[in-house]
Amino acid sequence: MKSIPIFNRDKTNEVEGTAIIVGASLSGLMAGIALSREGLNVTILERAKEGRPGGAGLQVDGSRFGASKTENLLRNLASGGRNMIQLWTTIERNLREEAKKSTRINLRYETRVKKVDQDDTSSWADLDNGERIHADLLIGADGHRSLVRRYVAPEKPDATFAGYMVWMASMDEENLPPEDRPSANQPRVRMLGSHNGFLFGSVINREDSSGYRRLGTTWYDNSRNDLLRQLGCVEGDVVIHSLSGQDVPEQTLKELATQATSLWDEPFASVMRYAAKNRTVMGIPIKEYVPERLVRGRVALIGDAAHVPAPVTASGFNQSIIDASILGECTGKGVQGSKAMEVLKDYESRRLQSVRRMVKSGQSYSRSLGRA
Ligand SMILES: Cc1cc2nc3c(=O)[nH]c(=O)nc-3n(C[C@H](O)[C@H](O)[C@H](O)COP(=O)(O)OP(=O)(O)OC[C@H]3O[C@@H](n4cnc5c(N)ncnc54)[C@H](O)[C@@H]3O)c2cc1C
Repeated sequence: MKSIPIFNRDKTNEVEGTAIIVGASLSGLMAGIALSREGLNVTILERAKEGRPGGAGLQVDGSRFGASKTENLLRNLASGGRNMIQLWTTIERNLREEAKKSTRINLRYETRVKKVDQDDTSSWADLDNGERIHADLLIGADGHRSLVRRYVAPEKPDATFAGYMVWMASMDEENLPPEDRPSANQPRVRMLGSHNGFLFGSVINREDSSGYRRLGTTWYDNSRNDLLRQLGCVEGDVVIHSLSGQDVPEQTLKELATQATSLWDEPFASVMRYAAKNRTVMGIPIKEYVPERLVRGRVALIGDAAHVPAPVTASGFNQSIIDASILGECTGKGVQGSKAMEVLKDYESRRLQSVRRMVKSGQSYSRSLGRA
């Protein structure tokens, strides 16, 4: 196995240390930006290709009293510092472009991490191409099925199925007849209820110059747990994968279209029918993870790798902004040698209780909707 340090640690270059981040989705990019602003050289490793599609909208808390400069920067990149629903693709692109501007960030796509470990002097990631990369600290930003979490918390490695799913669908409004498009003064977010679930409908501005908007729906559904198990999305208590439109059985697509017509108001029923017809609907089994720890030595977790709240809390991404900013603050005095461990202990002491509370706040809701 080739073994490569990620950067030389020449202090004349004012490098305060090195970090590896596993995952270059929203949390990984934010962590990379935050650490690079504190003088660390950062390598971010992402198994997916650059510029993946993603149609969902996230509720972003754009401002927070007392936020640090880094937190303000991240909130600006996410939503221009405003409270709003923002397209995932827009947030990801803004963060990726900011990360690319930094000479301290080495962003590597199509690079899968197979294993992580550490000793007294460094942490490392083994890649599936045989490379080993060393750094002072290693951050797991690798999502709800985190490999790094298995290393940090082997006694509690998995997020657990909450007993329900969401169907996510979206479409550009110009694909609807003009009379069915939402009016300019319709609320940006609507919540519609039914006996076995409910739906959030959203109207989101696009960034192209067309003047058209994107319509999104998130349908909370507790009636299809058997289907999730039959299709291998859920095994035992653990969520294995989501369901892409291509993999939803034809019969289920027909049922979704019919139920949408009877349960939901326009234009959101049309959005669901459109996504069912074009197989762009996405089924996401909901999972939760209350962490007991965030850190092991010089390895730490952030974002969904660290905590998975029910989406109804609208806080997974918002808390990840705070994770990344506080992680940055903690590393401000450098992470070389044994300092890495002190820095990460500090990070854990500032985040653990607060993220545990956040996940628990969604659990009472999940218990009432979920049929585990
Ligand atoms: C339906 C729904 C609605 C939501 N709504 C909101 C909301 O309104 N507001 C809000 O704040 N939050 C919301 N959330 C939560 C939010 O989407 C997540 O918290 C956030 O996107 C998590 O980002 P992440 O970067 O931590 O994880 P992920 O986006 O899962 O990224 C993990 C990354 O790691 C990569 N990776 C994994 N393993 C490896 C490996 N071995 N090697 C290399 N790369 C790897 C993956 O490819 C991926 O890119 C919602 C979630 C859902 C499901």
